[in-house]
Amino acid sequence: MELHQDVVMANHILFQEGVLDGFGHVSGRDPATPGQFIISRSLAPAQVSLDDLVTLDLEGHEIDGSGSHLYLERFIHAAIYQERSDVYGIVHSHSPAVLPFTISKSQRFAAVTHMAGFIGRCTAVYDAAVFEGCDCDMLVRNLKMGQDLAASLGRQALVLMRGHGITVVGRDVRQAVFRAVYAEQNAKVQMTAITMGEYTALTEGEAALADETNSGQVDRAWNLWAGRTRQRP
Ligand SMILES: [Zn+2]
Repeated sequence: MELHQDVVMANHILFQEGVLDGFGHVSGRDPATPGQFIISRSLAPAQVSLDDLVTLDLEGHEIDGSGSHLYLERFIHAAIYQERSDVYGIVHSHSPAVLPFTISKSQRFAAVTHMAGFIGRCTAVYDAAVFEGCDCDMLVRNLKMGQDLAASLGRQALVLMRGHGITVVGRDVRQAVFRAVYAEQNAKVQMTAITMGEYTALTEGEAALADETNSGQVDRAWNLWAGRTRQRP
């Protein structure tokens, strides 16, 4: 039940912190049942409650077959969980400050602050057109597209999706949320630095060490954000 509560809270936090709006989704899986994951039925994140959660298998099918209206892009989650046995939480968002970095041909998204060390020198970019070979609506609509995305992600913590958004992974739901929030913040800082001229990003070594340190601080931020959602009228 704790996982279910975290998935609900994750939806509310990500809406509150400006990472999700009416779209995007978050999932988590329990190490005891790695062949399935928990996610909301198709719903705006701020409206998700415990009753809205469904359990899907790693092909994106609802376990109990009860016919819930599911997110079209649930295959993002299914395919990444298939590929990454170390991942137990995933956020897919259209993180507004990150979006320009999904389309820029001159600027690469990179960790520029220590809170976003997990970004490193972000090299993972998924371009649906490369895999589909023709015009598509940019959505990850089936398992094959999800697997292409997972391949683009590789061993990294996030993958940019051209003209679409970002998918962030973590060792659990809370770390995935932490990273999704700080990816958005990092994008704002990096964009401001770009307008000022030249700037210095973290080295790969700095980024890795910062990520290691931050991994022990996730609950501190989570508890703050969770407290804020409870105060919301
Ligand atoms: Zn999307």
